Amino acid sequence: MLRNSGSRRAGLILICALSASAAEPDLTARQVIERIQKAVGVPWNANTVDTFKAGNPDTKVTGIATTFAATFDVLQRAAASGKNLIIAHEPTFYNHLDNLDEIPAGDPVLAAKLRFIEEHHLVVFRFHDHWHSRNPDGILQGMTEALGWTAYRTPNESLFIVPETTLDHFAAAIREKLKIKTLRVIGDPGLRISRVALLPGADSSRSQIELLERRDVDVLVIGETREWETVEYVRDAGTEGRKKALIILGHVPSEESGMDTCAQWLKTVVPGIPVEFIPAREPFWTPR
Ligand SMILES: [Zn+2]
Repeated sequence: MLRNSGSRRAGLILICALSASAAEPDLTARQVIERIQKAVGVPWNANTVDTFKAGNPDTKVTGIATTFAATFDVLQRAAASGKNLIIAHEPTFYNHLDNLDEIPAGDPVLAAKLRFIEEHHLVVFRFHDHWHSRNPDGILQGMTEALGWTAYRTPNESLFIVPETTLDHFAAAIREKLKIKTLRVIGDPGLRISRVALLPGADSSRSQIELLERRDVDVLVIGETREWETVEYVRDAGTEGRKKALIILGHVPSEESGMDTCAQWLKTVVPGIPVEFIPAREPFWTPR
């Protein structure tokens, strides 16, 4: 009896899943975003940067590309693989609010990017605030997995306890895991560390310093910071004899894997639409 009702329920779920996936290919970009708003698990905030940045939201979606940023290179790769809705974590037009008025009038780089978006009927949506405010934070979740730190988590999702090692070895292991070309470190290379705080992206110096102040944090791992703020704080801490260190990954490698996680999640939100994570890749290099 129990087994019977269970299998009937499974059958119903299967039918629902099949009919849902059959209907997906006709969704517009606006409808895909509505699905995301319902599924993300936190109330959708009216005051947010998570809005359409380019293209016509009523365009039928042929495929979705998630990415750190809709760079021209990412747009080209998305268009080439038939993905016309680009869901990007960071701005598309070089400032936080994607305000085109902040770019010098007639800028040729911007003009070429806008032309490409129009010619290829692309739609760009930013998914930043709500992917972060989700529980767990979607970016932090993706980065924890990419770093291989899942087993080192603590009740505070930003804090980790890793097997004790030196700062030098720890930083080298991160560089290897995330394949970073320009990772930078401040602190004594021989410093013994095990208590790690991870703050991807470009959080405020105040938030970064608050983590560094904690007695249960040896090393803070961040995306980026102003070099005359947190960087100088850590240098002063070292000069004062405090055992503190800072590892700067660069903004892209510090968050990018979180948008890979977003692609995997989106496949469950719009099951009939092809979804692909397109890495924006680290922008920097150093001479040999
Ligand atoms: Zn972020």
